[in-house]
Amino acid sequence: MNIHEYQAKALFEKYGVPCPKGIAAQRPEEFEQALGTIGLPCVVKSQIHAGGRGKGTFTDGFKGGVKFSRTREEALANAQAMLGNTLVTKQTGPAGRKVQTLYFSEGCDIEKEYYLAILLDRASSRPVIIASTEGGVDIETVAEETPEKITKVFVDPAVGLQGFQARQIAFGLGFTGDLFKQAVKLLDRLYAMFWELDASMVEVNPLITTKDGKLLALDAKVGFDDNALFRHPEIVALRDLNEEDSKEIEASKYSLSYIALDGNIACLVNGAGLAMATMDIIKHFGGEPANFLDVGGGASKDQVEAAFKIILTDPNVKGILVNIFGGIMDCNVIAQGVVAAVREIGLNIPLVVRLEGNNVEAGKKTLAESGLAITSGDTMADAAKKIVALVA
Ligand code: ADP
Ligand code: MG
Repeated sequence: MNIHEYQAKALFEKYGVPCPKGIAAQRPEEFEQALGTIGLPCVVKSQIHAGGRGKGTFTDGFKGGVKFSRTREEALANAQAMLGNTLVTKQTGPAGRKVQTLYFSEGCDIEKEYYLAILLDRASSRPVIIASTEGGVDIETVAEETPEKITKVFVDPAVGLQGFQARQIAFGLGFTGDLFKQAVKLLDRLYAMFWELDASMVEVNPLITTKDGKLLALDAKVGFDDNALFRHPEIVALRDLNEEDSKEIEASKYSLSYIALDGNIACLVNGAGLAMATMDIIKHFGGEPANFLDVGGGASKDQVEAAFKIILTDPNVKGILVNIFGGIMDCNVIAQGVVAAVREIGLNIPLVVRLEGNNVEAGKKTLAESGLAITSGDTMADAAKKIVALVA
């Protein structure tokens, strides 16, 4: 789960990670008061769950989702231009994201921009701190072109971030004197937040030094481990459903693993591995999957019904492939769920079903007796070929 910059900054404040003051506003009536509190110069920042806002462009041509503003009029005009407008950045995809919240932040006098992030490193199964003297730009580009400008420190989760490691990073960033001390303290606080909140990522790009010698987190991108959210209700409360695909929200209500994709062949599968293989085989025969959907090993009829409804209401879907291998899963539960969903919503696109395993005969019988126009597939390949042909 991701949160907005303004929410991340509130967590920074709580943990003692220094950042510029800021106030969020959702309605034009709130602009004046936010400005009054923040003062000038200020920066008006679009709040969307994507980076690259500064260099982004709105669909009406307005340039920049992060605007430094020297006067009250300038700030208000920027805010008015951004709120409700759709911002396209490198990370949003061409459709962009509608800006529904703005963040008014103190305008800082930047001396230099740095990069700092804490992530989970899968190879070493440890948190890794990544820091670079090249801030405000893509870390991927720095990693490729000038890897020597990146310092990486792996943290042993059993003991946490050690003082010498924080000093190693501060040294790697070239800090001396008071800035060195500020960096060590900031790292300690940032790591505490990352760890205690079960974050999967905390990225500060840029971390800055100001002309008056302060070290501040200017931007904040924070993501959390979904599997640990149950122990952080205060984080769950920060979820912004506007930023999520409505079909994925519906799927999460039923504990379904669903990811919307760009293709037109929907698939309903049990088991993540089989779901991946099903997407592969659709592509192999020249089709494009419309989603990843794993109903799980022990799905109920209600879950299957909900899953099938989500698929049926996606306007991009031109055909459906149900691919079930009944191990723990009872094939008849799947069949009943599919029939129940179709009864409610109707079906006017091709449906290919491949059922195999536990209670398969009963499942096939349920489908046959339903009177639905179903094409059955004998094998995965056969089923995939059939749905690709029917959709073409
Ligand atoms: P994004 O990464 O989405 O483009 P940032 O918050 O990093 O958004 O802002 C982009 C750039 O705008 C920063 O690299 C920085 O140069 C400038 N900027 C952002 N916030 C401030 C601020 N409070 N004061 C001065 N400049 C800022
Ligand atoms: Mg940034």
